[in-house]
Amino acid sequence: MRAGRIIAFITAAIFIIFAFLFILGAFSPEGSPGWIIVGIIGLVIGFALIFLGTKLSPPQKEGDQVVNLNIDLPGGVSMDTIKCKSCGGPLTSKDVKMIAGAPVVECPHCSTTYQLTEEPKW
Ligand SMILES: [Zn+2]
Repeated sequence: MRAGRIIAFITAAIFIIFAFLFILGAFSPEGSPGWIIVGIIGLVIGFALIFLGTKLSPPQKEGDQVVNLNIDLPGGVSMDTIKCKSCGGPLTSKDVKMIAGAPVVECPHCSTTYQLTEEPKW
């Protein structure tokens, strides 16, 4: 795809250069008015090739624009095993909020809020 685009642009540049030479030549004493038509055809082909070249490989930044909203929890913390430290109720990822860059858990059962601390990895 990339090589095809480069070839299309180079060919387009050659067509446009020759088209301009033909149009310029048409106005010189040795030129004939018919060269203008040849030049215009060359210009059309050149710009068509540029159009095709840009269509061949669309911008590849679509994937980079996706905003990653996942909350990065400290290593070793698994959401399946998190339980409230006060009442022992199960906590889900919805109860985890990012406050001042630190993950904070708000228990939906007893309304206790406390910071998530990284558990030692055994
Ligand atoms: Zn609780």
